[in-house]
Amino acid sequence: MAVPEKLVQSMNAITLEDEEEGGFEIEEAISNENGLQIQGFNPKLCAVGRFISEGRVDFMALQHTMAALWRPGKGVYMKELDTNLYLFQFYHEVDVKRVMEGYPWSFNRRALIMARLKENKNPRSVELNTIDLWVQVYDLKVGVMSERILKGIRDYIGYFIDSFPINFKGVWREYMRIRVSINLDVPLKRRMKLKMAGDKWFRVNFKHENVPMFCFICGILGHSEKFCHKLFEAPEGEIIKLYGPWMRAPFKSQVKPIGS
Ligand SMILES: [Zn+2]
Repeated sequence: MAVPEKLVQSMNAITLEDEEEGGFEIEEAISNENGLQIQGFNPKLCAVGRFISEGRVDFMALQHTMAALWRPGKGVYMKELDTNLYLFQFYHEVDVKRVMEGYPWSFNRRALIMARLKENKNPRSVELNTIDLWVQVYDLKVGVMSERILKGIRDYIGYFIDSFPINFKGVWREYMRIRVSINLDVPLKRRMKLKMAGDKWFRVNFKHENVPMFCFICGILGHSEKFCHKLFEAPEGEIIKLYGPWMRAPFKSQVKPIGS
């Protein structure tokens, strides 16, 4: 299907006429070894994305919304590679880094999961089955807060993200924050038991920042409890919701500090 391709520039000051003029100029579209026609293709500055939940997406509206949210200083070019698969070509490391650090992003209340493209990797074969989230860890005892323990907690919740080292400064806060890459096929974690040698077990509780829709029955991201497969496995009265809105971190009035 031919999709109108268009360079989407920072939306800061775009008027309708500016839009029709077509943004700024980038070297001609080149066809790389994967047969992709991408303007100024540079895999190092590419990200690939898909929406967790299925459904039709208006690609033009998606481009405008994401450009307005990201406001990339050097622009971004977006291409619809396949149904629910998008390629984002950025033109500066600052822009791609800022977008990846700020994600998950959403469009029409649907979460867009993204991954940076590894060199020599076909964008169509990038696995998009994890989402990076900030998780707040509550109820850690003062005496047991250490980098080692936070790393253990992070490994329990999901995968290590090397670009987000734990900056443990030993400062007491209501909670500690860790950036974790979470597998979309497994339930979100609600809490975890911890114990220091010779001491009693205690629980730490997790709240997830900016978390997309997840199911209160099975804890998996991307569907609501109305569409849970568990509904088919037991009578309605026996379904227990083990998960709930308390797993969302309180909404902060402060919007993403892009460009700050
Ligand atoms: Zn479910």
